[in-house]
Amino acid sequence: MNISSLISRYFHSSINDIEFQKWVSISLKAILDFLENHNGFKIHSDKLPSEISKKFISLKIPDKGQTIPIVLNETIENIIKNSVHVSHPAFIGHMTGASPHFLLICDLIISALNQNVVKIETALSATFVEMQTLCWLHRLIYEKSENYYKNILQSSQGSVGNCCSGGTIGNITALVAARNNAFPELHKKGVYLSYKNAQCVRAVVLVSERGHYSIKKACAVMGIGEENVISIPCHFFTNKINIAELKKRIQNLTLNKVKIIAIIGIAASTETGNVDDLSILARICKENKIWFHVDAAWGGAILLSNKYKNLLKGIKKADSVVIDGHKFMYLTMSQSAVLFKNKKSLDSLHQSAHYIIREGSVDLGKTSIEGSRRFDSLKLWFSFKVFGREGYESLINNAIKNAFLLAQLVSAHTSFELTSQPETSIVTYRFMPKELKMRMELAKKIHFLENKIFAKELKKFDFGKTADFLRVTKKINSILNEINTNLQKEQRKIGKSFVSRTTLQTIWKSQEIVVLRAVPFHPLTNNETLAEILREQEALGNKHFAKIRKRFMKEEAEAIRFFSDFLI
Ligand SMILES: *Cc1c(COP(=O)(O)O)cnc(C)c1O
Repeated sequence: MNISSLISRYFHSSINDIEFQKWVSISLKAILDFLENHNGFKIHSDKLPSEISKKFISLKIPDKGQTIPIVLNETIENIIKNSVHVSHPAFIGHMTGASPHFLLICDLIISALNQNVVKIETALSATFVEMQTLCWLHRLIYEKSENYYKNILQSSQGSVGNCCSGGTIGNITALVAARNNAFPELHKKGVYLSYKNAQCVRAVVLVSERGHYSIKKACAVMGIGEENVISIPCHFFTNKINIAELKKRIQNLTLNKVKIIAIIGIAASTETGNVDDLSILARICKENKIWFHVDAAWGGAILLSNKYKNLLKGIKKADSVVIDGHKFMYLTMSQSAVLFKNKKSLDSLHQSAHYIIREGSVDLGKTSIEGSRRFDSLKLWFSFKVFGREGYESLINNAIKNAFLLAQLVSAHTSFELTSQPETSIVTYRFMPKELKMRMELAKKIHFLENKIFAKELKKFDFGKTADFLRVTKKINSILNEINTNLQKEQRKIGKSFVSRTTLQTIWKSQEIVVLRAVPFHPLTNNETLAEILREQEALGNKHFAKIRKRFMKEEAEAIRFFSDFLI
């Protein structure tokens, strides 16, 4: 196709065409079919990944262009129809889900305007929208005075934070600032010289074992090294960082002249939704002069809820905080932000060039790790205006209520075990056959109290010697792992609902436990959805238990005794 027909067909002069509007309405219809016709589809498509992948095997950029209707049709058939129904009310396995429809309008505007927020020359009003959004988020966390924000709002001197594409980039940005704070020369001179000049043999970052994997990724790309992310144990069930262990570790590291670049508080953990005690962590950081970063990618939104914001008490003492808009603020992919207590913190990341992001300008690219960026802050700005804080509070309170409800259903059920204390909108639990649950509950108590108080009951239930008891419970846990893994996979395959799964160390210290993980934050998810999901899981669990029981009994005579004891 020659240049003039390309221009007349596909560039903005033809946006008014009847033809273009027809394509828009075809696309919109396909989108609505996908979003609304939940009953007609499986959550993860009717086709297997191996079938879908066959649609995408051509190895060469096409030489000849095709008409829009042809490409659009291919997009609808092969892409839209084979996407995951993340907005389905029974899709409660991840932090990705339904978004308000008005974000579609925002996305249209963002793409149509095509502002590049790296610099004011390519983003005029967008620059100020982003500044205002950052200011709102900062105030939500740090609650400084009206005057403080008046002065900082549109200042070219320093910045309260960056918008970025995700929590990963946010964590990298925060840790770069922390590292530059610990080693002021490093940004210019590199790791080797600055460690050497500071007579430092090793520098580390501390976070509980529930830390998100992006922390390790950040430290790997920054040259700190993955192995220098020190994992601090957390308490069972509450999943909060063990403060005594943390203090011991700090003392030990300091004694060995290891530099602690940052301590990270989790708010909340991706796997279990639990929040560290941020006030205590803040105090420890202050006492030891260590950078305090809070990873609130998931839970930061809870600050919008007056009912629950106390969960994050202490967050305003953090040197840096990451909040994802595309998780608990219900935005579409992607929108995130990293905020700093001190407006000078970002100065060490300052870059400038002659043609863009000039000194003294308000260019947002001055301190961002990313370069060219979409105007994604519009989505958060728009949502704040539409929902208001109060609207967000309703959404968040409802999501937390769902989690409490699910936890209640699980605890009261004869065939499930709750494996973490719900605090935000995440619940972990596992299927445990009725016959096992009573036994395992008792075994847990015995295990926990190390045989002291329950020794009598131990005899009564004939668990045998402690060593045997541990061996048998380990076997049982491994059976339960297998059942829960299979159950989760089958539920995904059936496609009526979806929960994810992960592995935790629960009360069974050295034994890894497979748990189901639900994130019931969808506004349309309700009691009925949750009860139905459990009913399906119970049936699937019993089916897999029946299968495994036979095999297991053949293999393990000892377990037969254990089982036969309670199977009567
Ligand atoms: C999701 C998440 C991240 C990573 O954020 P992305 O937006 O996926 O890059 C980091 N930390 C926590 C606690 C998270 O839940």
